[in-house]
Amino acid sequence: MAKICIMCNEAAGSHEHVFPAALGGRRTNKGIYCTTHNNGFGRHVAALQNQLLMLNAILMVRPDRHDGPKSFVFSDKDGGSLSMVGQNIQTAAPPPIEDLAIEPGAKVSLEFGSIEQYEHWREAQKKNGWDVRALSSGEIQRHHFASPLKVQLAFGGKDALQAVGYLALTFFAQYFPVEARQRGLDDFKDFLKLDFSKAEDERKWTPNLVWWDGRDSEHVVSKNPFKFGHTVVVGTSGASNRAYAYISFFSSMNFGIDLGPVENVSESMVRVFIDPKAEKAPNDLDVMRSNTFSIEVAPEISDLGEMIRSGSAQTAMSRFFAKAGAWHFDLFIEEIQDKIRGWENPRSTEGGNFAETLVEKYSQRVLNLLSEASSGLREHFADTELPKQLFTLLDNVVKSDDSQPNGLSAATNAFLELAKKEIANALKEELGAQNPSAERIVLLFAGGPGVAVITEKIVLPILLNWRR
Ligand SMILES: [Zn+2]
Repeated sequence: MAKICIMCNEAAGSHEHVFPAALGGRRTNKGIYCTTHNNGFGRHVAALQNQLLMLNAILMVRPDRHDGPKSFVFSDKDGGSLSMVGQNIQTAAPPPIEDLAIEPGAKVSLEFGSIEQYEHWREAQKKNGWDVRALSSGEIQRHHFASPLKVQLAFGGKDALQAVGYLALTFFAQYFPVEARQRGLDDFKDFLKLDFSKAEDERKWTPNLVWWDGRDSEHVVSKNPFKFGHTVVVGTSGASNRAYAYISFFSSMNFGIDLGPVENVSESMVRVFIDPKAEKAPNDLDVMRSNTFSIEVAPEISDLGEMIRSGSAQTAMSRFFAKAGAWHFDLFIEEIQDKIRGWENPRSTEGGNFAETLVEKYSQRVLNLLSEASSGLREHFADTELPKQLFTLLDNVVKSDDSQPNGLSAATNAFLELAKKEIANALKEELGAQNPSAERIVLLFAGGPGVAVITEKIVLPILLNWRR
């Protein structure tokens, strides 16, 4: 069929990603939008990308046509800029030279999270014609985080729902090119053109075109075969003569979409599972077509208010973070496995030295153990008549001090050094075993066994040595 834009009568051919490239979409289509409409809808793609950036960074999703995942940049409580990819958090790279307003030839001092990050940044500047040279480097400082970083996850607002609507229409056009051009969808298309930052458009917001769906996506569709897969369902219902869509991001955040009335349609549904972690097509999709529209899509059955009241929105996100956490744990085991292999073959240092190298590299994890051990004891004694001072003591085991180069108080630094020694000892024992287990090593860094060592060897003695 002629490649005509679904929004107007101009020729289509803008070659847009059906699922946004930034979210790991690997497919494009030339037959949906004209250049004007594709560019105009770029704001919807940007809205989706911005809203899901943090989750994509946690999962290390590689945007299409990029070498690696995009990091999530956020501010800590002091306004410092941090960047996160996977479970790795570091000082964010400085902005590009153009934005720094530096004169050619000027000497400036910049902070980087790592040498690798500096090299990467320098390459990027070179592409823009800036030759940056490092004259000297200051002291390398390891910053520790005394408390867990709180990052606000906010998906919502009219812009976000509208962007979900855009995604639904694009998918519908991909699989139902004829129906996507029917006049019945005009109201929905007009809705996508609104700009809710303008007051006159804000008033035109129509409820029940796109809504949050609180149901577990596994119960609505079948289980997504991809670990952090997205689901998109588009179709036409012969019973109601309407076109619908259902979208689930990461099998956690779900939406229903009513695209509008369609004429002379037979019942039909296309269900697409998308793997944002897939390297390339064709392994990125699992598509199933059927001639019944078998899922229920209606705002009444999936009210957001009810979702919040019942706590299912929170449950959905907790489920996501639990899954991501388990996956990070597995990745950590693989990382340690590699390090053990490198150490054993050829055995370059003795176990004690290797253990110390590990403890140095993962010192933030040892600090987390210290934090867990002291808050664990605090909780354990919460209902007892222990002197108040003991609770204060526990609270001060891990304490930040921003005047210190690594962000920790002098006492915490001292406890951390002791804790590192204890974990190194436990590691040394494991490494001396016949077959050192990467999983047991990971548990010493990030699990119950590690917390137990720190509780017994560091935190309990602090309490026991306390004198009134
Ligand atoms: Zn157009």
